[in-house]
Amino acid sequence: MTIAALTTYRSEEHPNMLWLEVETGDGVTGLGETFYAAEAVEAYVHANLAPIVMGLSAIDIEAVHHRTRPYIGFVAASVELRARSALDIALWDALGKFTGQPVSVLLGGRIREQIPVYNTCAGTQYVRGPKVGKTENFGIQSKGKAGEYEDLHGFLNDPVSLAGSLLDMGIDSMKIWPFDFAAEATQGQFISQTELTRAVAPFEAIRKAYGDRMQLSAELHGMWNLPESRVICQALDEIGMRWIEDPVLLTNPYGIAQLKGSVRSRLAMGETRGGAEDFKIFLDTGALSLLILDIGWCGGLTEARRCAALAGAYLTPVAAHDCNGPVVLSASVHFCQATTNAYVQEIVRAFYYGWYADIVTALPPVEDGTITTPEGPGLGMELLPDFKNREGTISRVSRA
Ligand SMILES: [Mg+2]
Repeated sequence: MTIAALTTYRSEEHPNMLWLEVETGDGVTGLGETFYAAEAVEAYVHANLAPIVMGLSAIDIEAVHHRTRPYIGFVAASVELRARSALDIALWDALGKFTGQPVSVLLGGRIREQIPVYNTCAGTQYVRGPKVGKTENFGIQSKGKAGEYEDLHGFLNDPVSLAGSLLDMGIDSMKIWPFDFAAEATQGQFISQTELTRAVAPFEAIRKAYGDRMQLSAELHGMWNLPESRVICQALDEIGMRWIEDPVLLTNPYGIAQLKGSVRSRLAMGETRGGAEDFKIFLDTGALSLLILDIGWCGGLTEARRCAALAGAYLTPVAAHDCNGPVVLSASVHFCQATTNAYVQEIVRAFYYGWYADIVTALPPVEDGTITTPEGPGLGMELLPDFKNREGTISRVSRA
């Protein structure tokens, strides 16, 4: 069980996605995934990561994790850590296939079968192009074909119907980001009362229509300076949020502590920062009510376990980010099954019911507002042969 080959797959249709398949000398394969600047991560995988890991034992994942810690790029969700994350997920999947066990069992066993989901209200084309974090990449003036669930358009134009359709599916928790347009207009330096009134209107409308039946979270994407973020958070306090996410950029622990001092809502942060040592600096502030980690960015499942243990020592729950692809979603649900302080699982139903099934053989089943893992060993899914051979799929192989 030595690492014998790494194959990456990119797709012209999903230019931010990168899939990584590891193959062992015994012919066992494992599947990983990461998101953003896929071409740069692909280059790093073949030029830098493959020479380090080729020939290493594929089942000694901790050793691979240690050997692949980069000398530079070891903080935040760097290209190096995104590549390392995809490999780590693939190795856990391969170990599952080798032992015939689901990843959640290998992570220590299941404390739960299902975990509740919340819906991130993106549309089918959301952040598909290279302009990540820009409202012009939100896909609401979509050039691509509209999907069944255009939830970003929904929260901007008809939030009550959107919330109703989620409740009809059994999903009682949702996250929206109506502040981003105002932030881009002033580089996050000022929100006028008119903009604030317009941005909180969808939350107020949903609360008025459905009361406490729908749990509301706000995503601020770290776009605001501290005083403006405080103004927004205090307005959201009045409506009652499940959490406010990334109210400021995770650059300054002191600023986050300042913000928490004047905001009642739970603050959720972390996905952009990477692994456990990075998170400790922010957990030390006492301002985080929920640590959000992305298994495809933080260093994979190996690092996610460390992050969850660390957060647990601060009596803080964790939630896995998923606004990217189906493999990280499955890895996240396995992680939630095996992690006591897992809080909730993010899904993007526009992606889940939109394009995920075009890429992989199985998805984690979503039913009555909860999600569980697909059947079978490892992560319970493979890339579709049709996807690998599809026109517009770009693959590269490094072999021992
Ligand atoms: Mg987020």
